[in-house]
Formats: sequence, C-alpha cells, structure tokens
Amino acid sequence: MDKEMVDKMLSRFAPVDVPVDCTPLDDERKQIVKELIRAGDEVADIFWEQTSPDAKEWIQRYSDPNHKDMLALIKMNGGPYDRLSHFKPFPGAKPRPKGGGFYPRDVTKAEVEAAAKKEPAILDPYTMVVRRDGKLTALPYHEYFKEQTTRIVDALRAAAAHAENRSLRTYLLSKAEDFLQDNYFNSDCDWIDLDDPLLDVVIGPYEVYEDELMGTKAAHEAVIMLNLPKQQDLVRQVEAKIPELSEWVWPYSDPAGGATPIRVVDSIYRSGDGAVGYQFVAFNLPNDPVVRREKGAKKVLHRNFLQARLDKIIRPVGEALLIPERAAEINFDGLFKFVLMHENCHSMGPQFVKGTKDVPVGAALKESYVAIEEAKADTSGMATAGLLMEQGLFEADKAQGLCSTFVAAQLRAIRFQGEAHAIAAQISLAWLAEQGVLSFGPKGIDVDCQRVLPALKELSGRLMQLQYEGNQSNAAEFIEKYGITRGEFKSAVDKIHDQPVELMPTIIVKGL
Ligand SMILES: [Zn+2]
Repeated sequence: MDKEMVDKMLSRFAPVDVPVDCTPLDDERKQIVKELIRAGDEVADIFWEQTSPDAKEWIQRYSDPNHKDMLALIKMNGGPYDRLSHFKPFPGAKPRPKGGGFYPRDVTKAEVEAAAKKEPAILDPYTMVVRRDGKLTALPYHEYFKEQTTRIVDALRAAAAHAENRSLRTYLLSKAEDFLQDNYFNSDCDWIDLDDPLLDVVIGPYEVYEDELMGTKAAHEAVIMLNLPKQQDLVRQVEAKIPELSEWVWPYSDPAGGATPIRVVDSIYRSGDGAVGYQFVAFNLPNDPVVRREKGAKKVLHRNFLQARLDKIIRPVGEALLIPERAAEINFDGLFKFVLMHENCHSMGPQFVKGTKDVPVGAALKESYVAIEEAKADTSGMATAGLLMEQGLFEADKAQGLCSTFVAAQLRAIRFQGEAHAIAAQISLAWLAEQGVLSFGPKGIDVDCQRVLPALKELSGRLMQLQYEGNQSNAAEFIEKYGITRGEFKSAVDKIHDQPVELMPTIIVKGL
C-alpha cells in the first residue's frame, strides 16, 4: 500500500494527547492501577485474536520503525480492516470475516446454526468456535486463552491485595473468579456496588458488535478510570432534580423508574475493544439484562475524552461552519452539560405506548425508534439544561456557549449520514432552521441563542408525542421530513469533508 493511501487514511484521524492527572491517588491505589494495566495488556492480546483471524499477524509484519504509520492504522482499526468504511480491507485484500476471529474464517451462518443445535455452547457469548475433525465445537474463553487468563487473574488478585476499599477489593476478587469461569454475573453485580472514591475499572468481555456473523460473542476490553469527585457533586445535584425535570418535559407518563446513575471520570487506560475505532466519551454497562433488572446499571462520562473530542473535532467543525462570533462561544462547559442532560433524558418521556402498560415505545416504532429516541434525548437534554440555568443550578450566563456548542456538535454528527445519532442531530438542526433560529449567510451559520432552547423544548414535545402514539409510519414520516441531510446542511457537510472524523488518542498519565 502506498504512502499516499496511508496518509489519506491517517488524515481522517486527529492525533491527540489525552491527559489524566493521577496525583490524587495514594501509593496503594497507584499499585492497583499498575496491576490493572498489566491485566489490560493481556486483555488487548486476547482482543487481537477475537477481532480477526489475522490482526496479530499484520501487527507483527509492520512492527518495525519504517512502518510506524501503518502500524498505528492497524492498531486503531483493530486489524487490517477500515472501521470508518465498513471494514474495508487494507493493506491486504481479503475481506474481514463477519465473525471476526471468533469462528473459523470460512464458516457460514447456516453451519454455525446447525452445529449450535447439537452444541448450544457454540452460541455462548464467552466461547471461541473452532473446527475439530471437520466439526465445529466451542471452547470457553478461559480455556482458549488460558495463558492470558492466568496472567489476568494473577494481576487482578495482586491489585485486590492493595485495595483498602472493601467494595473495590470484593469486585477485583470476584472479577478474577469470573475470568476463570466465564460467568460474569457476580462481578457485574459487584461493579454496581463499587464505591471507591477514586478508582473504577471495567475489564472482561462486554460488547458483541465485533461478531457480525451471529451477534453473540463478547469482545474483551479494559478501561481504567479516575473518579472526579468535584464533577460528581454537580451530577448528584442534577440527579436529585430528575423527578421534577421528568414531570416538566412529559407530564403524562408514569414515573420512569430505573434511572441509571451517572459517574464522571477521566480515562487512565483503555485497551482491546475499548481502544479501537470509535472513541467513546460515555458508556452504559453492564449489558446483562438480569443484572440491570436486579441491580441496575451505571452510565460513565469520560471527561478527558469529551474534552479531546471538543478540541479536535467539534471546535474545528464549528470554526469552519459557524460565524466567528458563535464559533468563539464553543466551550467545554456547554458540551459537558449537553451530554450530561442528554444521558439523563434517556430515562424521561413515554416508556409505553398510549393506553398500554406493556407495549414499549421501541417495539412500536421499530427501525425508527433509535433515531427518535436520540433526538428526544438531544432536545429534552438541551431544554432541561436551560431550565436548570433558569433555576440557578447551572450558571445562567453560560446559555450562549451551551447553544453554540450544541449546534457545532450536531453539525459534527450529521456527517455520519444514515446512522441513528446523525439522523437525530439532523432533526434538531432542520427544526431550528425551519423556525429561523439558524440562519445561513456568507460568513457562516448564525444561531439565535435566545430562541434555541424554547424551540428545542417544543421539538422534544413533538418527539415524545410520536413515541406516545407509537405509530411507526408517523415516526418514519417525521424522519423523512427532518432527518435527511439536504440543501444548506448538505453543503455544510461537503465543506468539512477533509476534516478528521475521529480521534487517535494517546493517554498521557501524570503522577503514577
Ligand atoms: Zn443517547
């Protein structure tokens, strides 16, 4: 592959140093982090085998100083397949098997289904599928990855020995035990109870997106996090307001219940599935529905990655497309409050269709659901942020920054056309333009910040009404009208065509 291609691929990523300051950690916690990093590196090694049959081979092939850029690309993409172009192969030509490395390369869906009838473990989330004597069979992760698992368990136990916080020690030990059984129920429950003031970690197999063949295999990841007590204080004050905010955005429904607490952290370390492709700024775990029902779930916002996304992706988009006065107002505070309230608002609004107690909105709106739900969270998130400003919990003089940052963030999102978050972003922007809140001039897009919040409040009411009615064709019609990027927004997207779409982060740890 020639240098020009490599440069072109690299240009879609913005290299960025993501700082984290570990000086608040005492010596024992620093030791814990070091042990967890040791475990996380083993997790990465497992992930390379899960994500594709040849990722490790390609990493080895380009592990010399002459191929620094190619190696960075392969690592960033979790193998020689371009995640920003539906796993298009590079530098090789062989397509990525749909089942990644979880199954033999040449396997078909029908073959897996047939074999799973005799051996259900073949569809277990925590097994690798291999062919033995011409027949498919399943090997649990802890057997298939025996050496790595042994080292992970050792590191987790060593970390636990340094943990003075009881909930952290319990969690690390149950996690070690679960790695040996490939049953993560106990440690998932212990993670919900984890209350160390400074440290948090998720480690193990979680998301199933790498398995495009059957959608069942969970890929390994590790994310080590530093809790941020000061930011957490504000989040707690917001959480106390949630019943009131819910009532304000949608007065007709039963209280949602099951709202998930939000934690604010800086990432200290990410590996495996947590480090490739799309760089998340928030996650919501665990995925096990039984744990979610009995213990709940946690949403985690990653402040340092959110800051990096603002600096390297959102602000440049705003500077290219907004008039200079509005672009100058883009700031972290506005983005943080928008994202925080977006996450909170997922648990607000109608849960079930009108007149029913058991038809969830998602089941009624089908393929239109995710875009409508994301647009609901965007718009009611902004509206509730505005209300909290009026009430004084958020500083009122920051409204301009909130609105300009929101518009820039939505302009960034509409580039991923057809994807649910992109449709959602387009809905808000088209609505604001229709109401004359956004205007297009030779110097760029202007935002009438006074009118953004009332207009979005109105839109959030419309979206919740669509959810409440549960009529799929009305939802699809609304998406057709507002969710498709056309006209001036289409030209805006074309204008930022050359800007990077994703971060290529290096976490810079201070004080460890
Ligand atoms: Zn969302």
